[in-house]
Amino acid sequence: MTVILKGQKMLIGGKWIGRHEVIEVRDPQDNSLLDTVPAATKEDMLHCIEEAKEGAKIAAAMSVHERIKVINGAADYIEENQEKYALIISKEGSKTIREARKEAARCIQTLRISAEEARRINGETLSFDQMSGGENRVGYYYRFPIGIIAAITPFNDPLNLVAHKVGPAIATGNAIIVKPATVTPLSALLLAEAFSHAGLPPKVLSVITGHGREIGDVLVTHPAIRMISFTGGLEAGEEIVRKAGLKKISMELGSNSPVIVLEDADLKDAVESSVSGSFWAAGQNCLGVQRIYIQESIMEQFQKDFILRTEQYCVGDKQSLETDMGPLITEKEAIRVEKMVDEAIAKGAKLLTGGERNGAFYSPTVLTNVPDSSRIAKEEIFGPVVLLYPVEDLNDAIAKSNSVDYGLQAGIFTKNIDAAHQAIDQLDVGGIMINDSSDYRIDAMPFGGVKKSGLGREGIKFAIQEMTEPKVVCFKLSAR
Ligand code: NAP
Repeated sequence: MTVILKGQKMLIGGKWIGRHEVIEVRDPQDNSLLDTVPAATKEDMLHCIEEAKEGAKIAAAMSVHERIKVINGAADYIEENQEKYALIISKEGSKTIREARKEAARCIQTLRISAEEARRINGETLSFDQMSGGENRVGYYYRFPIGIIAAITPFNDPLNLVAHKVGPAIATGNAIIVKPATVTPLSALLLAEAFSHAGLPPKVLSVITGHGREIGDVLVTHPAIRMISFTGGLEAGEEIVRKAGLKKISMELGSNSPVIVLEDADLKDAVESSVSGSFWAAGQNCLGVQRIYIQESIMEQFQKDFILRTEQYCVGDKQSLETDMGPLITEKEAIRVEKMVDEAIAKGAKLLTGGERNGAFYSPTVLTNVPDSSRIAKEEIFGPVVLLYPVEDLNDAIAKSNSVDYGLQAGIFTKNIDAAHQAIDQLDVGGIMINDSSDYRIDAMPFGGVKKSGLGREGIKFAIQEMTEPKVVCFKLSAR
């Protein structure tokens, strides 16, 4: 199927707006031009924020049943056009069509959950008379929308990660301005199309396309923005936190997730899950498996099976159903990954398979003997590279898993319930998957990390908490 796109517009304050200056959106697979989007200016961003001020009032005045109807309407629209959504994800990003279809299906779920959760934005009654002087008072708190949310999103899940911000924002009666990644803006614009089609009042949602480094400052520093919901890399995240001022901040950042495989694990399952977790979306996945700690007694077998499975991976045309892994998002990114691998090899790491680059493609790569002094041992690789380490026992595996600055998710393969509980207690992460790789997630669970993996949690219900504030109400009654 061919998608014909000719000059997309951005959505500001309910109007689809074009600009003379455009940004080219290219397919990373062959660098072909897919479309263009407007290169928004600082003035556009200021105008967008002014429109969102009105949007916030409109959003807050929408009844819960109207919000539910609109969010479900957007989900219906995406469901009716699901293949178009999958195709755009796969064309502008680096996902294969199979991976992209999964993301489109998840986006529908994310929106449906948002509509459901809109019913449950509740407060509770308070017993004021628990304190002396509180007699004859009754009251409660309820949750109210915070106003305008700035959503800044990355390239690797260009639709569903945007839905994770837009769904709860609309469910809570907030206005939201989305600044999608410059390399993958089309999916976010298509999400906006779904909401427009579903009858979301103008000005509640804007999607503004432009370079983060040019228009980002205006957005993140503006006093009318009450919350920044950022998903992306550590460097940009830290810069935004430094500049933001007094605002709520939600930071979904990167990681180099560990998986532990103990000698009593189901080896076949551990290999299959860990290979998939390492190379999903060409390793450009915040939950991607980067470090695997394997008990020494099974190291040899695990390594052999892991390499065998990795070498079966079909890398190539994203649109082919046979393909397991596509390219990285740009050739520049593939070169960055290549350099990190080469540095580790120069310092003594052993290349077990992969290590080859062809344009934006980088082969699924497995390393062992990686010295701690190499960048790849501590930093996020964000590419299809995984490091295998033998460990003595669980204590050793936990200590090594925790020896980095990140802590998003972890996995452990074992049949021993005590070992699983020790890992749950002692791993410094936001989520632990027992008998799954770090890459397992559903859209309704609390999602986020500790340490440099972030601040706050997404996962609809949890984003709703972040996107609302409690307001306390107290009635002083006449003395009885
Ligand atoms: P990125 O380079 O940090 O960019 C993310 C977004 O921030 C883009 O929209 C970017 O705009 C914008 N941006 C960059 N600098 C900015 C600034 N100074 N002010 C305002 N906005 C700015 O990340 P990426 O390469 O797209 O995504 C990969 C990273 O995201 C990885 O580290 C990955 O682990 C992380 N991630 C985390 C999660 C999670 O939920 N924890 C999920 C997915 C991805 P431009 O595109 O215009 O530069």
